[in-house]
Amino acid sequence: MAEYDYDVLVIGAGPGGYVAAIRAAQLGLKVACAEGRETLGGTCLNVGCIPSKALLHASEYFDAAANGAMADMGIDVAPKLNLDKMHGQRLDAVDGLTKGIEFLFKKNKVDWKKGYATFQDAHTVKLGDETVTAKDIVIATGSSVTPLPGVDVDNSKHFVVDSTGALELPKVPKKMVVIGGGVIGLELGSVWNRLGAEVTCVEFLDEILPGMDGDVRKESRKIFKKQGIEFKLGTKVTGVSVKGKKATLTLEPAAGGDAETMEADCVLVSIGRRPNTDGLGLDAIGLETNQRGQIETAHDFRTSVDNVWAIGDCIPGPMLAHKAEDEGIAVAENIAGETGIVNHDVIPSVVYTWPEIAGVGLTTEQAIEKMGDKAKVKVGKFPMMANSRAKTNHEPDGFVKVIAEAESDRVLGVWAIASVAGTMIAEAGIAMEFGATSEDIAYTCHAHPTHSEAVKEAAMAVQGKPIHM
Ligand code: FAD
Ligand code: NAD
Repeated sequence: MAEYDYDVLVIGAGPGGYVAAIRAAQLGLKVACAEGRETLGGTCLNVGCIPSKALLHASEYFDAAANGAMADMGIDVAPKLNLDKMHGQRLDAVDGLTKGIEFLFKKNKVDWKKGYATFQDAHTVKLGDETVTAKDIVIATGSSVTPLPGVDVDNSKHFVVDSTGALELPKVPKKMVVIGGGVIGLELGSVWNRLGAEVTCVEFLDEILPGMDGDVRKESRKIFKKQGIEFKLGTKVTGVSVKGKKATLTLEPAAGGDAETMEADCVLVSIGRRPNTDGLGLDAIGLETNQRGQIETAHDFRTSVDNVWAIGDCIPGPMLAHKAEDEGIAVAENIAGETGIVNHDVIPSVVYTWPEIAGVGLTTEQAIEKMGDKAKVKVGKFPMMANSRAKTNHEPDGFVKVIAEAESDRVLGVWAIASVAGTMIAEAGIAMEFGATSEDIAYTCHAHPTHSEAVKEAAMAVQGKPIHM
């Protein structure tokens, strides 16, 4: 009889966990995946990437019809919002994709263990009444919304919601306040702004989208403002109270000063996410978390406990589905005795607003800091206004920026604001993985007319020689 029930047990079936489970099974290992949620796919498929993109896509069409973009192209329409149907197509997308993972588990013979797992020892977890043992265990428990002290979220009442509640509002609020000018605030704020809400975004820092390139942060705020989103920067929310059908927020300047109040019909709390590591019984295996509650791992995703591994949102790094997926593949390969590697320097990030905002590698500020001297960094920038396809499609906003090391010309980072920036950034990622120079991108033939020609032109601009500017 085998010493353990499974070769590998993965805890959590989000993009990190389900991918790790499938890859481990593909490599010939006997695998189970524990998931406490009713459906597979984790945050991403159930309440994250997929439902938010379903609403972003649909609301983009509504906005184009309602706010003149279609009329500009000779299509006169007077759209009428059917919010129930819009939610219906969101739920269909979630249903189809989560069932798709169920199918993939069956196809790859991954056993789905239903319930929340707690460690008993380094090879044993308990899920309800069931005990499961495995030679190797992968923690892929993801993350949850960070609460804001003084603010009680109640998604069922729709007045003060988190991202999950903001995906399910039964009607368009008249006035919505978004706490946090990060990715969730801007994506979900955009959805409800397009559908008719007056949206104000309150951000603690002096600029939105922390972590992104400085130019990109400034320019994108200007674009959102043109779309009707108001911003209160350098401001923190200290409390929210609900009376009747109104929420009242108390705000204070981040640097200190007099408090003010603001009313809203709906408040979205989107100030970040924190790792799901409580309740896993990590004490039972002597595994400690860092100050942020994350599990630290070596580069091969092994924790300080030899047969226990960790990936995705519960370990340090950006909380992104594709980062979790790549770590899922790598950890399975490492467990199987192969060499699984993730290059954390080349993880693209995309904000799926209109236009999209995307970047990979270093920001200009980080590049200058890393090189220690502004003169050691060269930047080429090309406006979407001068890109023939973007101009023809009535999408003039944004730019592409290529950041290269001055001496070697090696690309250090690429940033873009463009209608399809999320798709355009993939070529920058590949170029950087292959150690490309800006000249390599500039001399690569790009199809015409495409938005991606702006990447080529921005690369040409690094040497000061773009054609269409
Ligand atoms: P998760 O997806 O969080 O999955 C972890 C799973 O583990 C959960 O299903 C949980 O129920 C389960 N679990 C936890 N503890 C236990 C336990 N003890 N036993 C059993 N099961 C357990 N990222 C992008 O890259 N692109 C996007 O467009 C994007 N949009 C987003 C939009 C929103 C509104 C949100 C909230 C997030 C978004 N993200 C996006 C982030 C993305 O969802 C996460 O980075 C990603 O889901 C992390 O994957 P994971 O596998 O690490 O964890
Ligand atoms: P975030 O970290 O992106 O942004 C949170 C923002 O809230 C920050 O700008 C922060 O300065 C601000 N803030 C914090 N406390 C505040 C306060 N008291 N008052 C006002 N502002 C305050 O977090 P998020 O938007 O909640 O997203 C969580 C995670 O989910 C992110 O790490 C992101 O990577 C992931 N996500 C990714 C995507 C995507 O890839 N398109 C989409 C959604 C979410």
